[in-house]
Amino acid sequence: MQGYRCKNCHAESITKTSFCPICQSQTFELFTLPTNGTVYSFTIIRVAPPEYVDFAPYTVALIQLTENLRITAFIQEAVSIGEKVRWKETKNQTFIFEKAV
Ligand SMILES: [Zn+2]
Repeated sequence: MQGYRCKNCHAESITKTSFCPICQSQTFELFTLPTNGTVYSFTIIRVAPPEYVDFAPYTVALIQLTENLRITAFIQEAVSIGEKVRWKETKNQTFIFEKAV
């Protein structure tokens, strides 16, 4: 996985944007994201939208990947805050994580 880091203020993002949301700079550099992160917060989805109904119940977690970057990911296991998780795959622009062993 790769992320984008603002060359001016070092804000990090998982998606490419034209302007840095913090400082409006337009210069970014690519960097390799760690595949391991920590659960920052999570929500259990029991009533899923039609496209995800086969997966329910599932967990949508905010994962702290680096000091400056949190991403939203899908986890099909029960997790708790502070738990270590790792990237499994990216499907239809959805990040899927699993518990790190
Ligand atoms: Zn910036």
